[in-house]
Amino acid sequence: MNYSFIIPSMLVLLVIMGYYFFRPRLPIRLNRAFLAILVIDICTELFECISFRLNETWPEHAPALLWALNILFFVFAFIRSYMFFVFTVSVLDSHVLLRSRLHVLAPIVYIPCVLIALTAPLNGWLFRISDGFRAGSLYWLLYACGCAYPLFAAIAVLRHLHELSPHQIISLTALQAVLILGNIARILFPTYVVMNTFCLMAIIVIFISFLNPDLFLSERGYVYNLPAFHALLEECYRRKRSCRVLGFTIQNYNEHRELFGGKQMDAALIGINRWLCETFPQLSGFYLRSGCYALVGHNKPDLEALQQQVSARFADPWKTEVGELRLSLSFVKADMLQMDCPSDRLVNTLMISLDELNHASEPDTSRYLKESIAAISQKLDIRRCLEGALNNDGLEVFLQPLVDCLTGKRVAAEALVRLRDERGRLIRPDLFISMAEQEGYIVRLGEQVLSKVCRFIRDHDMKALGIRWINVNLSPVQFMSRDIPERFSAILKQYGVDQEMIHLEITEQSMIDFSLLHDQITDLHDNGFQFALDDYGSGYSNLSRVRQYPFSNIKIDMEVVRNYCRDRDVLLPALIQGFKQMNLSITAEGIETEEMAGAMKDICCDYLQGYYFSRPVPMDEFVKMCA
Ligand code: C2E
Ligand code: CA
Ligand code: CA
Repeated sequence: MNYSFIIPSMLVLLVIMGYYFFRPRLPIRLNRAFLAILVIDICTELFECISFRLNETWPEHAPALLWALNILFFVFAFIRSYMFFVFTVSVLDSHVLLRSRLHVLAPIVYIPCVLIALTAPLNGWLFRISDGFRAGSLYWLLYACGCAYPLFAAIAVLRHLHELSPHQIISLTALQAVLILGNIARILFPTYVVMNTFCLMAIIVIFISFLNPDLFLSERGYVYNLPAFHALLEECYRRKRSCRVLGFTIQNYNEHRELFGGKQMDAALIGINRWLCETFPQLSGFYLRSGCYALVGHNKPDLEALQQQVSARFADPWKTEVGELRLSLSFVKADMLQMDCPSDRLVNTLMISLDELNHASEPDTSRYLKESIAAISQKLDIRRCLEGALNNDGLEVFLQPLVDCLTGKRVAAEALVRLRDERGRLIRPDLFISMAEQEGYIVRLGEQVLSKVCRFIRDHDMKALGIRWINVNLSPVQFMSRDIPERFSAILKQYGVDQEMIHLEITEQSMIDFSLLHDQITDLHDNGFQFALDDYGSGYSNLSRVRQYPFSNIKIDMEVVRNYCRDRDVLLPALIQGFKQMNLSITAEGIETEEMAGAMKDICCDYLQGYYFSRPVPMDEFVKMCA
């Protein structure tokens, strides 16, 4: 027998085990499976070494000892093959929710093998001890079991190929290839103890690809990182395992970082990580990002008490090389089992809640995630619908007529965007417009609305409908892109629509002192677009500023109209007269009754808009209404 392979293999294995045992390990299945592989592998190697050695010097030992050691070797060798398979399934399982049939059927191979090994003294099928070790008629089971499991694993990988990342596919394939090669080598060179070297290679593949503790550790040490948080919650969700989370954020983290500098802040964070790790050994601590942390426990930890303990520590400053940092916290508490929501959503919601609390005025503010999950879920749903509608040209545009005061006829319309959820219900524009502005969707939204309005104008005889122009709302955020005049002109050109047909509305509130806004509006105006000032009277009206912009129409906000109709004063009529002298036409919004229409007519408004005439309606309905 040649032991030149097994000794170095065992030494390398010991190094890996040492490294693995003494670093924090995330309590997930993958880690447990790997741990089992390490333990079983080292036992197999030990029994293999010892039994081979004793077999060579068999006359010196009692047969019972030889039987026992050989049986132990075979049992562990069979189980080891199976454990590598279990590991592969665990990787798949973290992606696929269903347990594969293969997984359930797999023990059918190793259990009979183990039984045959255990009964070897009775039947001698696997081996016999008579004049030393003699292979039995079923000795080949050792190779068969060794090859069957990597083959099963390869089939399982193939079946879930589309759910795996390229990195996982390569790593899992390499793992099975190494194991099969090991068995072939064992058949070809039976006197060399080579299989263990291949198992060691397989262990190294697993370690590097999936379980290197550094993949899951925060860069500042002691606690885990965000991918680890995802992995742990994902597993808890799938296995319905009890799991409570205390999330907390350092209030005004970014401002603190600005103020004290990255180095100081990092030193404080390292201190916090270390304190968490040492104070809560029974929990898993995570640094998520930008001053956000989470503590996770599986034995129903008391989150209230935990919060108190953490805030008590934060009442004292954190020492750094240079000085002391006082930090305050906000908390979010969650019980995963109780909320029963997928881990992705939970992590997202937790992060959003923590961000919201980041600027909370009071320290130690806390909330239960369950309460905010509905609101945040709604936000996420809306975002998903919005993304879908933007990608599939799915936004709808409704039209609401503007009526000429003198003739009482519809002369124009305002285009109002509409978004539907999966069930076809309308989502309120105020819910998704501000989201579109904050999250960078508004430019695409505005262009889709403009395109649809242009298409409507191209496809219908506007003269016959009596419509002279259509108002399109513009968000100030759209002005951030410098090429907006060119892009808008290009859209009109694409549909062959005249500039005069489109009036752009911008709200009074958006008229901040902003030279880019001014330049863009002037630019668009020079390109032939007309402008209306929307929601006049809802903000701080500044007449001199209004004069600096090339408006041609002022839309009086519906609140102002409502107030005037309730309590007629002289202010609004005077204001309107002022605008008229500036050659501006006036539209009154939110006209809901005949009386309101009359009142606004009396003070010389030019156009009226509101539910009294019509609600915003889909384009085809609008055409029917005008025909
Ligand atoms: P807005 O520009 O002030 O639009 C008028 C809003 O008042 C519309 O609400 C309209 O349905 C509603 N309205 C009209 N007549 C009456 C009435 O008689 N009584 C009452 N109570 N309400 C009336 P909507 O469609 O929900 O739109 C809300 C806001 O969303 C709009 O306010 C506008 O700021 C924004 N928005 C709508 N479409 C677009 C768009 O395509 N782009 C941009 N940037 N913003 C849009
Ligand atoms: Ca408007
Ligand atoms: Ca308005």
